[in-house]
Amino acid sequence: MSNPCIICVAITGSLPTKENNPAVPITIAEQIESTHESFEAGASIVHCHVRDDEGRPTSDPQRFARLKEGIEKFCPGMIVQLSTGGRSGAGTARGGMLPLRPDMASLSVGSNNFPNRVYENPPGLVDWLAGEMLKFDVKPEIEAFDLSHIIQAATMQKDGRLKGPLYVQFVMGVKNAMPADERVFDFYIETLKRYAPDAIWCAAGIGSAQIVVNEWCAAKGGHTRTGMEDNVRLGKSELTPSNAALVKRAVGMCGKYNRPVATWKQARAILALRTPAFA
Ligand SMILES: [Zn+2]
Repeated sequence: MSNPCIICVAITGSLPTKENNPAVPITIAEQIESTHESFEAGASIVHCHVRDDEGRPTSDPQRFARLKEGIEKFCPGMIVQLSTGGRSGAGTARGGMLPLRPDMASLSVGSNNFPNRVYENPPGLVDWLAGEMLKFDVKPEIEAFDLSHIIQAATMQKDGRLKGPLYVQFVMGVKNAMPADERVFDFYIETLKRYAPDAIWCAAGIGSAQIVVNEWCAAKGGHTRTGMEDNVRLGKSELTPSNAALVKRAVGMCGKYNRPVATWKQARAILALRTPAFA
């Protein structure tokens, strides 16, 4: 029996709008409903951003608190991962929600280019975010947009700034950063194993690379991410009707490679996360 595959759904992100796809969940109520459908479809982690009343990205801890509370109520057991990404805020505001003690939070450990800007993650801010995650018992998901980010995460584990085992996500297909390239992907896996032998990996592909990367994850024994943050289409010209439809597509890919889809209990065990109070 092969190892279960954890499916993460990134429901909203900072960029997609209703103009891109009317099904993108923007309000907290829409986000909770979309998460619930995705949870039923097989996702065990939800990666969350929040938007303000105009639909713009924000790091407002109160909005994160309402979303987290709703997900915990309607999707009991699901792993809640809050974004500390740089499109939603600047400086330490990016970590203002960490005292909410979500199960997980995303963490970038280095800088790179995005389509229209520099994605700035200066060392001092990275250390501060990592320190807050240690303080509030939040497991980071390391977002590796580049090879150096994998090695930096391993360095931070060795010197105690990050608690192991690391959970590292390879992000591919962001314009001006790393494209979805299978030989690079394989080298990422090999490099992570060499620098952090106890690490676990997952990956996300942007746009049309989403399903390609889902397939590599299923085939190579990793975990995977889908959702409308990264891609709003099901096929070349067809918009996805929901996040759940993208989750179902990832579930299908797991089936193709005989990977069972991890339940929330299995996902929590794999990631060594705490058991929710009700369980
Ligand atoms: Zn995100």
